[in-house]
Amino acid sequence: MNVADLLNASSAGTQVEGGIDPDMQSDLLATLEREDPRMAALCRLFAQRQAQAAQTLQTQQAVDGADQTECEHDLLELQDRHDRLRRSARALRSALTDQQDRLEICAAALGACLACWGERTDCPHCAGRGRGGWQPPDPALYARLVAPAARRLASRDAALVAAPAFNSDPDRAGRGSAAAPLD
Ligand SMILES: [Zn+2]
Repeated sequence: MNVADLLNASSAGTQVEGGIDPDMQSDLLATLEREDPRMAALCRLFAQRQAQAAQTLQTQQAVDGADQTECEHDLLELQDRHDRLRRSARALRSALTDQQDRLEICAAALGACLACWGERTDCPHCAGRGRGGWQPPDPALYARLVAPAARRLASRDAALVAAPAFNSDPDRAGRGSAAAPLD
């Protein structure tokens, strides 16, 4: 088989992925060595470059595959972290709203400033005057939230007034006030 026959055979479908069939290539080179050594040298160089290119491509594909896998893993991790943060933020927002609602209810029950409870002189609502009693308390909220505490305080004061002898001894008075029931 001469060079022309070998070239025809290779173009007729005997190529393998990445280049000419190795057996065919070997035959081609052997024939060229006999008929045209300079062409054979060129073909060997071409085959060498082709093999190097194929190896480089294979290595790059492996690196790209590993990079892609790592990126996908990082992306999943970030998405998971984002979801957890979003759930935490939602829970915190809900808890904050609940606390704000309770504070506003307490302020209304005491007639205090909803914004600062009288603790900020630069408050646009009360200018620092908004402590309890600043506004008329909400009667229903006062009855539900404040009156029971006021009654209990009054009851304790009445008990202390009713037992002056007991309270004349500082030691007993101290123990008594700590242990005495308030209602
Ligand atoms: Zn205020």
